[in-house]
Amino acid sequence: MKTSRIERACIEKGFKMTGQRRLIARVLSESTDHPDVEELYRRAVKIDPKISLATAYRTVRLLEEAEILERHDFRDGRAHYEQTPEIHHDHLIDVNTGSVVEFQNEAIEKLQRKIARELGYRLVDHRLALYGVRLKGDDGGNGGGE
Ligand SMILES: [Zn+2]
Repeated sequence: MKTSRIERACIEKGFKMTGQRRLIARVLSESTDHPDVEELYRRAVKIDPKISLATAYRTVRLLEEAEILERHDFRDGRAHYEQTPEIHHDHLIDVNTGSVVEFQNEAIEKLQRKIARELGYRLVDHRLALYGVRLKGDDGGNGGGE
């Protein structure tokens, strides 16, 4: 099994990597979405049925405290996680499906720094989540109809 990026980050932080921690790290590294802990657990248990939900929670908390993972609140009452990205992005949440779209917008980034500066601060972090419903922009045409 090759070493995942999260696992390498754990080793750099000096964490002891048990088999179960390695598995959680691997599942997280392979995730391209923003799973909550129960979803991570479901993915991990398919690979190793012996892993417990408590271990998944403990490992995720450890990784979050070490800033290896970022936690997001998408207003569904669950904490969602992703590997702390190398390049910052923000999120748009589809309120109907719960699906999450990642985006980057330099104008927003600049504006936020400007606002902080005008208030006498240097910006070090921000959280931005947009909530939307999908426009009906697909083929159908707007020509008339029912
Ligand atoms: Zn993201």
